[in-house]
Amino acid sequence: MLPLIYHPIYSDFPLPEEHRYPLQKYRLLKEHIDKQCWPVEYHLPSSIDWQLLCEQHAPEYVTALINGTLPLVKMRRIGFPWSEALIRRSLTSLGGTLLTVDKALEHGCAVHLTGGYHHSHFDFGSGFCLFNDLFLAARHALTKPDIERVMIIDCDVHHGDGTATLAADHNDIITFSVHCDKNFPSRKPSSDMDLPLPRNTDDADYLSQFIPAVTLAVHQYQPDMIIYDAGVDIHIDDELGYFSVSQGGIRKRDDAVMALCKDHQIPVASVIGGGYRTDQSTLIPLHAELVRSALSIFHSHQTE
Ligand SMILES: [Zn+2]
Repeated sequence: MLPLIYHPIYSDFPLPEEHRYPLQKYRLLKEHIDKQCWPVEYHLPSSIDWQLLCEQHAPEYVTALINGTLPLVKMRRIGFPWSEALIRRSLTSLGGTLLTVDKALEHGCAVHLTGGYHHSHFDFGSGFCLFNDLFLAARHALTKPDIERVMIIDCDVHHGDGTATLAADHNDIITFSVHCDKNFPSRKPSSDMDLPLPRNTDDADYLSQFIPAVTLAVHQYQPDMIIYDAGVDIHIDDELGYFSVSQGGIRKRDDAVMALCKDHQIPVASVIGGGYRTDQSTLIPLHAELVRSALSIFHSHQTE
């Protein structure tokens, strides 16, 4: 059984009517997976202790955000209105990415049905990211026996700027970002490996550059664990991405990452990452590719 990490709270915090964030996609994805009768088992995460965050973020930033006293201009940069429910959801989803690491170490592969807050920096959040779960999860993995180096493979269409800066001084956390060169964030601090691709990159261009690069990265750094952000905002119809990748391209990308992990016997904790469409239901088959891929590669389960 493939471990999936999910909490109903993921789609449950107040947003203004016209807000572009696809809040219902988590619930819709869970419902879609349930209908497939795939061999998965759900694990319910708990909220983390917020004080844990003071080890990686500025304590003043953490306490202000938790208490709702962060200046409005800084909340606007994050992109959500403050609410207690938002904070509860955020701390629970951080717990979810940590649980995904634990389950991946136990079973080889686990998938979190949210996560990927790569625009969260040391003392500010941006782009719908409050606290950085990828960096927190990498640090968590490094506390486990025999895990000496963790690689974060970030395939969201947006550059993993927060993760890159947080991990900059950590030789045991390797960051790899493949992203659109002309997209948010405008400032892209260096990851350990960056693969910027131009607007309108299609399946053939994406796969022919990404697969050799990620294979090289794994060979070069030989990580003991991989954290994979499988953002689907690389899709041609995404409203915040400028790539021209199809659902088939996303499938091949996810299969390639999963196969790389399986072949090298590296446990992989995946998060679904970004994906933005006004009609949220159209995102579901794209995010479901990650689960399908994990089942196919790690469990030899043919889904169709
Ligand atoms: Zn994104």
